[in-house]
Parts: sequence; C-alpha cells; structure tokens
Amino acid sequence: MDFGLVELTPAQQAFQREARAFFDEIVTDEVLEEERETGAGFNLDVHLALAARGWLTPEWPVGEGGAGLDPVCCRILHLELVYHQVPRVTAATTRLVWQAAERYLADPRLRAEVKAGVANGTVRMCLGYTDPDGGSDVAGARLKAVRDGDEWVLNGAKTFTTGAQNCQYTFLVTRTDPERPKHRGLTMFLVPLDSPGVEIQAIRTFGGERTNMVYYDGVRVADRYRLGEVNEGWTVLRGPLDEEHGMAARDRLADLSMGQGFLRTLEPAFAAALTWAATPAADGTRPADDPAVLARLGQIATGYEAALGTPGPMGRVKGAETLIAKSAELIDLVGPQAVLQPGAPGLLGDGALDFAHRFAQGTTIYGGTVEVFRNIIAQHVLKLPRPSYPGAKQFLGRPR
Ligand SMILES: Cc1cc2nc3c(=O)[nH]c(=O)nc-3n(C[C@H](O)[C@H](O)[C@H](O)COP(=O)(O)OP(=O)(O)OC[C@H]3O[C@@H](n4cnc5c(N)ncnc54)[C@H](O)[C@@H]3O)c2cc1C
Repeated sequence: MDFGLVELTPAQQAFQREARAFFDEIVTDEVLEEERETGAGFNLDVHLALAARGWLTPEWPVGEGGAGLDPVCCRILHLELVYHQVPRVTAATTRLVWQAAERYLADPRLRAEVKAGVANGTVRMCLGYTDPDGGSDVAGARLKAVRDGDEWVLNGAKTFTTGAQNCQYTFLVTRTDPERPKHRGLTMFLVPLDSPGVEIQAIRTFGGERTNMVYYDGVRVADRYRLGEVNEGWTVLRGPLDEEHGMAARDRLADLSMGQGFLRTLEPAFAAALTWAATPAADGTRPADDPAVLARLGQIATGYEAALGTPGPMGRVKGAETLIAKSAELIDLVGPQAVLQPGAPGLLGDGALDFAHRFAQGTTIYGGTVEVFRNIIAQHVLKLPRPSYPGAKQFLGRPR
C-alpha cells in the first residue's frame, strides 16, 4: 500500500493554489473572531462568496449553479475549507437536506426554486430532528402535524436546531399518526422558518456553539412542502441520517475518519503548547529541555494521528474521545496559562487549549452520541445482532 502523497496534476495543483488564495483572502481574522464569538457555524459573506464560485455545490454542473469540479478538486476544496476553518455548519446541513429534498419534494417548481437557492446561497436548511424529550430516538418524535385541507398545522418544539437563525427552512420530523408504529407515523416537511408561529430561541453551549430551541405554535405549512408520503417520513429521513452516521456509500476520496473535521481543533492547541515548550523561562531553561515534557507531547501527537487514521464511524468515537482526552492533557501540561480569561495577559495561544477542551465535549453528542455510534458500529460494522431495547422494535412487527 502506498501511503505517499497523492500526486496532483498541474491543473489540480493550480486549483489548490486558487482555493488557498481565495480562502486566505475571505477567511479574515474578523471572520474567525466573529465565529468564535457567535459559534454560529455560518458567515453570510463567506457563504455567498462560496456560492458565487459555485463552491457550495462544487460537483454540480456550472449551468446549475455549481462549479463542475471533478472528485479530486472537490476533495481539495473540502480540505481547504477544513484547514482554513471556514464556518460551514449551515452549508453542511443544507447539503444533507438537499439530498432528501431533491428526491422527495413532489412540486417541481418548488424543487427548482430550492435547488437554485441552495447553489446561490439564498436557501439554507437546518435539521429539525431532536425533540426536547430525547434526541437519540429520532423515530420517537412527538411534534404534531395535523392535516387541514391543503395545509398542515404544526404544534410542538424541537431543541438543538443548529443554524435555524440563518436558515430559510428546517427539515422537520413530525408525528402525523400517533396510533401507528413509531417509525410508520412520521412525516417530513421543509418548513419555512419565517412562518407565523415559529419562534427561535438561542441556546449557547459550553463549547461555544450557537444552537436553538424552536417552538411551533399552530404553524401552518402548505402540503407542497411535504417530503415523501404521509407517514413515510422514516424513508425520507434514512438518507440524511445514514450520511450523518457514516453509513452512506462513500467515495474513495472521502475522509478516512468521521472525526477528521472536529479533531483538527486540536492542531492550534497543540501548536500553542509547542510554543510554550520552546519558550525559555527567566533562568533560560525551556519546558522542552525536560524529556518527560517531550514524551508527553509525543504521546499526544501520536494519539492524535491514530485518531485521524481511525476509519469511518469508529473514527467518530475515537475522534471525540481523543479530542477530550488530549486537550485535557495539553492543559494539564501547560498549566494555568492555558485557561486564563480571553484577553488576559499571559494567555497562551489566544485560548486555543481552553477552546479545544470545551469544544470537545459536544463532539460526543451531536449527529448521534458516541453511545449511539457504538451501537451502529456493533450492528453495521461488526454485524452483531440488533439489541432488543424494551419497547423499541416491537412496533415494527419484525421477528425479534
Ligand atoms: C452542539 C449541538 C448541536 C446539535 N445540532 C443539532 C441539529 O442541528 N439538529 C438536531 O435535530 N439535533 C441537534 N443536536 C442534538 C443531538 O443530535 C442530540 O443531542 C443527540 O442526538 C442526543 O439526544 P439527546 O441530547 O436528547 O440525548 P438522549 O437521546 O436523551 O440521550 C441521553 C443519554 O442516553 C444515551 N442513549 C440514548 N439512547 C441510547 C441507546 N440506544 N444506546 C445507548 N445509549 C443511548 C445517550 O448516548 C446519552 O448519553 C445537537 C446537539 C448539540 C449538543
């Protein structure tokens, strides 16, 4: 097996240079500072600048608002987005939802309108899965949708709808028939977030992310916003869920590990610790002169590399747990300088270590908790039997 660097063609190298120059220009210190302050995973100017190049939907043909990039250039683009820390949560959720909208929106005019908006950046979509009573069991959603002629009336709430404040639609899981087995009584909608009766309330997490509680109080949504058949929402949801859980078909250029994106938060923290290790104290000695310090830094670096190389959904679990453990070790090594208040004299690396450790906590939760991922690995990777949770599957009518 060749682990050497992939050799890019001159055209691909030129594209890489173009992407780097573009991101160097648009991802300014102000953009990064704003992201740190808001935790929104979104910046309108950056989003629209990406759209203007067709880079929100890079593989789409130019005539459809994309950039017509081949898979290698798409991969280069993706890596540059990660390396430049481009705020991109909303761009990612929009792409996830679009795959369901493209397949299941029945009204061709609405589908075309949404498609054009996804590419030009004016239509952004978030995930309305998590009920306040429990998010891991997505199929147990309770938010009610009741038909009234050509409309549906929505009542209930969703929590952790990340990006709702910057989106036009939420991809909403609703309960349309409480009498049917739970997976068979769901219906999916694209709900316009400017509908009367929608109220978005901000939630800031310990890790600094901005997410939302969204209330639906008698919200009326036209039937044309329904995705798929009534009570067949689970079928609609499967594609985006599989994608988020690493179960969708992936090309050979995809990230090796599902933890890659968030694991990279450790890099600035590690770089700050290296600066600390190489800085002489008043007596001229440096922390790096102590072999024990070097050994710990080495262990952290190899742990990080091992996590980056852990494939698929295993990488999601390993990535989150490594980020938590290694960011804590870095803080332990460096000491109080790592966790001073923002702006305090002596704060190391502009707070990168403290940020990495706080940010790490949420990575075990969103997109499915690490416990849920362990179940996925057990059943879908190791092919172990499906566990029988009390009450969970009996509704499906499958033999147990
Ligand atoms: C920063 C952030 C952003 C998020 N963004 C979104 C978003 O955009 N849209 C959205 O819909 N949701 C979002 N979520 C919600 C997230 O997907 C849920 O928090 C997650 O699925 C867990 O649901 P819960 O918090 O209700 O915990 P619960 O489901 O109540 O779980 C509680 C505990 O029980 C464990 N558990 C539950 N079921 C099982 C099981 N079957 N086997 C083993 N252990 C189990 C869990 O691992 C957890 O430790 C976000 C969450 C966070 C923190």
